[in-house]
Amino acid sequence: TPLLELRNIWVEYGDKIVLERVSLQLDAGSFVAVVGPSGAGKSTFLRLVLGQEAPTRGQVLLDGRAMPAACGPDRGVVFQRYSVFPHLTALGNVLFGIECAGAPLTARLFGARRRAARDRAVEMLAAVGLDHSLDVYPAQMSGGMQQRLAIAQALVKHPRILLLDEPFGALDPGIRLDMHALITRLWQDHGLTIVMVTHDIGEAFKLGTRVLAFDKRRHDPHAPHRFGATVT
Ligand code: ADP
Ligand code: ADP
Repeated sequence: TPLLELRNIWVEYGDKIVLERVSLQLDAGSFVAVVGPSGAGKSTFLRLVLGQEAPTRGQVLLDGRAMPAACGPDRGVVFQRYSVFPHLTALGNVLFGIECAGAPLTARLFGARRRAARDRAVEMLAAVGLDHSLDVYPAQMSGGMQQRLAIAQALVKHPRILLLDEPFGALDPGIRLDMHALITRLWQDHGLTIVMVTHDIGEAFKLGTRVLAFDKRRHDPHAPHRFGATVT
């Protein structure tokens, strides 16, 4: 079975059809880049995969089973901005990523479990190059460092799928290249499945093992949502 499968998905808001008859299968270990114009439904697609939204019709399957509604530890997500908490240090943010995984947000870890969690958080921060910034707050970090931190927070719970919504869109070109190298290394080292929305076609084809192109639905109500999948 594919890791993720969408079966004949429709998403409608009132009489507005955003996704129509979208079917696709994603294999574990793939790096899927999602491109398309604003309003084409890319964020809606991510929310479906996150379990934050239910389709109007159709099925979203994880390992052949109905996608759990809430974002569990099997999925991590990084947004273009504001993925991390400003009132927590780097270490605090990554620890929060562990504590909230599959548990109520108020759950706290104590004793040996807390020490093990701290070790894992430090290890994850080292993996993104932030091992010298454990006590630094996001406001004191550059945009690139904040995105590294967001990635560490998303990955610390070892999710099977990492969802990236324009993760590098706000970064300078040079920093973006560093981030490409980082995310490629993490993808390989952790055997991740990545779904990344980007406005940058070059980035999509550089990083993606597969590129999904979402098109805006044409005004003809009988026209299917044009959904092209290209394998590079
Ligand atoms: P992009 O991800 O392409 O930058 P957005 O997802 O932010 O674009 O938004 C695309 C369009 O969808 C915008 O016009 C935005 O106002 C609209 N939009 C996004 N979310 C909602 C929502 N929950 N309700 C209504 N309109 C929305
Ligand atoms: P993208 O991320 O490709 O820009 P979105 O998935 O954000 O596209 O939005 C697709 C379309 O769905 C847009 O036209 C947007 O306005 C609309 N939309 C998204 N969320 C909502 C919502 N909750 N209610 C109404 N319309 C929405």
